Amino acid sequence: MSILGTRLPYISSLGTHARKRIKCGRVHTYYGKHCNVWRAQPKQASWMVQGILKAQKYFLEAGFQERDVLNMESYSIKTVSQKMRGELPKMDWRRLVRANNRAPKWKSVLNLALTRRLLTKARLAQWGCVESLTCTLCKQGCEDIEHLFFECSYAAAVWSKMLSSQGILRQCMNWQGEVVWAQVQRKGKNSAAQVFRMTLAGSVNYIWQEWNLRLFQGKERNAEGITKQVIRDVHIRGSLFPRLTRKPEELNMYL
Ligand SMILES: [Zn+2]
Repeated sequence: MSILGTRLPYISSLGTHARKRIKCGRVHTYYGKHCNVWRAQPKQASWMVQGILKAQKYFLEAGFQERDVLNMESYSIKTVSQKMRGELPKMDWRRLVRANNRAPKWKSVLNLALTRRLLTKARLAQWGCVESLTCTLCKQGCEDIEHLFFECSYAAAVWSKMLSSQGILRQCMNWQGEVVWAQVQRKGKNSAAQVFRMTLAGSVNYIWQEWNLRLFQGKERNAEGITKQVIRDVHIRGSLFPRLTRKPEELNMYL
């Protein structure tokens, strides 16, 4: 029976991570009619209701106040998740992925990197699958997404070359910085933007391929070899689009 008749978002899975899944639904509480739900102390409540009321912490982290929550008519998981992660430019990073539709493997690996689901050692360690977090490529840093793209000296050597080959004269940034830069500086359908997206996907793919080669097959390639391979592939894929032909040819100067 509804006593308060108020609505509270329902968080199905609580945790400290910003990406915890949050669901919305009508929740009818069992507290007094004039009780302040936001400050309720649900000592006698079931574990589920306690979980719901403790959701306050996560809404505060996302920047929502009591009034915002109580006035919610609809609820967007995406909106709250984005607010908890911090504001990003409105452009959808999935465009970076879609630009590589003709290269499904590149698209897949880039998507995993963008969503931070690549099984780096830092991620594997969460399941106790690895003992050492030392980077497979440079044998120095702690191997997580930020390190691999592109704090790692090996990965940075590849990406720096790819940047300079496109006339982009700046240092490598961290992964978040590179994604935002691509979203802002290389948006649209012009050839420079499309070639950049291909080189980003190609670089991420070959760096990840190198990681696999070293870890599972004990083989190694140097950064220069990887760079040339990315440029060759971008050239081949770019030649499929007449509009892009000139840009990939410019990259050829670096082969
Ligand atoms: Zn490294």
